[in-house]
Amino acid sequence: MSVSASRTGAKVERQPLARYTTLGVGGESEIWFVSTLEQLGEAMEQPYRILGGGSNLVIHDSGVPERVIRLVGPLAERDLRADPDLSSDTEIVTGWVGGGVPLPGLVRQLQKLGLSNLEGTVGIPGQVGGSVWMNAGTRFGEMFDGLHTIEIVTPEGAKQVTPADLDWGYRQSGIPRGHVVSRVRLKLRRDTPEAVLARMDHADQARKGQPKNKTPGCAFKNPGGVSAGKLIDEAGLKGTRVGNAMIAPEHANFIVNLGGATAADVHALLGIIRERVAVPMELEYELWPEQL
Ligand SMILES: Cc1cc2nc3c(=O)[nH]c(=O)nc-3n(C[C@H](O)[C@H](O)[C@H](O)COP(=O)(O)OP(=O)(O)OC[C@H]3O[C@@H](n4cnc5c(N)ncnc54)[C@H](O)[C@@H]3O)c2cc1C
Repeated sequence: MSVSASRTGAKVERQPLARYTTLGVGGESEIWFVSTLEQLGEAMEQPYRILGGGSNLVIHDSGVPERVIRLVGPLAERDLRADPDLSSDTEIVTGWVGGGVPLPGLVRQLQKLGLSNLEGTVGIPGQVGGSVWMNAGTRFGEMFDGLHTIEIVTPEGAKQVTPADLDWGYRQSGIPRGHVVSRVRLKLRRDTPEAVLARMDHADQARKGQPKNKTPGCAFKNPGGVSAGKLIDEAGLKGTRVGNAMIAPEHANFIVNLGGATAADVHALLGIIRERVAVPMELEYELWPEQL
């Protein structure tokens, strides 16, 4: 595996992307590990993709031709201190939280600090940047419940915006694809750790029954409000296996990697579901490249 440093000091290394996805699938690609806005700017000089926690992706077995950018170092650190100028007895605005910070650990830390607004996102295995970009959430809350400022980097440079500047909504931030969420400042409500924990536990209950194996999450969006999992289950597909990928017996809208699955296995299962379920269903996760 070749490792080098870019002009501005980013570590550049070819590695299997399977290591960086929750499905555990994805071929070798050139990864740019960027820790400063300068390095991010350099990485964006050539065609690129931005990788977060890899929890909403199915990546081809031969990888992708573009640079794959990953936020590390200071862009994966958090400063949760209350800004004295913007905080009150009831509400705080934090320092910067890097786009590369894993969301689950952040949510747990906020609970311990007695800071509320993001506990509804408990159980979402993404990074802050990826989760802001798609306004990840559950019926108990979403990322935009807790945002004050968002720093966005484009090939033209960095800018700071507030949620009011964006056309955000259900599972979308309004931030164009390819614009990088490098850091955010959080807007949180003060509460007791016990009260935040109780709401987290309640939200977590809804996840009981989700499979424990490697997975990129739900495969299909619910068509017209009907449960995609129920439609796949009714088509008799639970437990269907191609290679080492399987439609989870616990929940039919999850495809899991039993160990050593390939993107081709997953793709074949998606094809079987589309063939057998009469209602057209839109894919929930992204394919890299867009046609496997
Ligand atoms: C078990 C499981 C449960 C899940 N439950 C939920 C749920 O309840 N609700 C929900 O909404 N989602 C859920 N997901 C899906 C996924 O975790 C979320 O969508 C998550 O927010 C994706 O973030 P990520 O960092 O992993 O993004 P990735 O999968 O790495 O990338 C997804 C997209 O975001 C872009 N992106 C990544 N980082 C950045 C960045 N810094 N700036 C700009 N764009 C970026 C990527 O380019 C890509 O287009 C679940 C997934 C799993 C595996």
